[in-house]
Amino acid sequence: MSSRVCENCAREDDDLGSVHRVYVVPESWDTPGSATTLDEVELWCFSCRSQYPHEEAEAVEGTDEA
Ligand SMILES: [Zn+2]
Repeated sequence: MSSRVCENCAREDDDLGSVHRVYVVPESWDTPGSATTLDEVELWCFSCRSQYPHEEAEAVEGTDEA
């Protein structure tokens, strides 16, 4: 077993969560603000999840049983 590392800050953390990174574009003089959610799932630590925009990723465990 090796420690898992946050894919955002590269810090070892046991409390990693699956998220989709969200890129937020601030509104400026010539463009409206927008946010882009990436399809890629990343593992983020609690600290990053509390500080950076993201969407919780669906847990994918290889089954779709309800
Ligand atoms: Zn982190």
